[in-house]
Amino acid sequence: TRRWRLASRPTGEPTRDNFELVTVDRPEPGPGEVLVKTLYQSVDPYMRGRMRDAESYAEPWDVGDPMQAAIVGEVLESNHDRFEAGDVVTGDLLWAEHAVTDGDELRPVDPDRGPVSTALGVLGMPGVTGYFGMLDVADPTPGDTVVVSAAAGAVGSVAGQLARLSGARVVGTAGSDEKCDWLTDDLGFDDAINYKEVDDLGQAMAEACPDGVDAYFDNVGGPITDAVWRLLNVDARVAVCGQISIYNATDVPTGPRKLAKLIETRARVEGFLVSDYDDRRNVALDRLSTFIADDALHYRHNVVDGFENAPDAFLGLFEGENIGKQLVQVAER
Ligand code: NDP
Repeated sequence: TRRWRLASRPTGEPTRDNFELVTVDRPEPGPGEVLVKTLYQSVDPYMRGRMRDAESYAEPWDVGDPMQAAIVGEVLESNHDRFEAGDVVTGDLLWAEHAVTDGDELRPVDPDRGPVSTALGVLGMPGVTGYFGMLDVADPTPGDTVVVSAAAGAVGSVAGQLARLSGARVVGTAGSDEKCDWLTDDLGFDDAINYKEVDDLGQAMAEACPDGVDAYFDNVGGPITDAVWRLLNVDARVAVCGQISIYNATDVPTGPRKLAKLIETRARVEGFLVSDYDDRRNVALDRLSTFIADDALHYRHNVVDGFENAPDAFLGLFEGENIGKQLVQVAER
């Protein structure tokens, strides 16, 4: 069976050379453990942080070690009383075709509730992030103008639709016309800005938000955030979810500089982590499932086929290759 491990730490943009594909014996489950065959593997922007040798909210990976990932898989053998062969499960396992895990860490996935891969996207960590980041931190109310950056991604697409369902006017930014069309035509965004094509991002943002910005769900930082910043209204909320535009930066720019804007507007800027909401996770998942069943929430998956292509799927996140949640299909059920 095959695994990816970290071959070296990247400087700047990661490359395929930072990853090494190795073949190992298929692991055997011990007492209480479960052997899982990966069906879908998630690749996520936060993994860039784990490739770096620096303390963050996720521990750095060691060079030479296999890397962790959320997966959806099928139980092949189980020594755990909650699982049996054939069950579909999700959990934080490895960039691996097979892995053994403590059954207590696994969660069942009901294949009758829709595609099992949703457990890594809209009905998994990214969906829960969009849910709490938008509804608890950005906190939109009817009539607000809400901006979401990386709006066509896994988290942003959920966050933006929830703002719309809260009665807000929603503007998204994304890196292609195809993504922007998806936001406005299918997800119900009121406007979308292709930040790679506009001449003047500040002007485009001002035109898209004539009444200013009441809440901003930030996935990217950098120039997009600067463009929103100057439009913040009194009592605006900024939910800082991610800063992908600087994850590969070797020379990190110093700080948000226009803090006087926060004095003028009494705006609140708040970072959050999805893991802070573990105890309310099921509330979010139940509501997101209901929205999907009611056709009020749409999602897409960008599936890269083949375990050997997992690093390319990861690198694609930084090129904006994904519409919706980026996944690797590793095996069929
Ligand atoms: P996405 O599905 O949104 O994929 C990443 C997207 O980021 C790309 O598709 C690309 O879209 C955009 N992007 C890449 N580089 C840049 C850049 N230089 N400038 C602007 N946009 C860029 O990923 P996720 O939904 O999984 O994650 C979104 C954000 O949320 C990330 O920053 C991530 O770290 C963060 N996150 C935070 C969590 C938390 O607990 N706080 C939990 C989960 C995720 P485009 O075409 O628009 O450029």
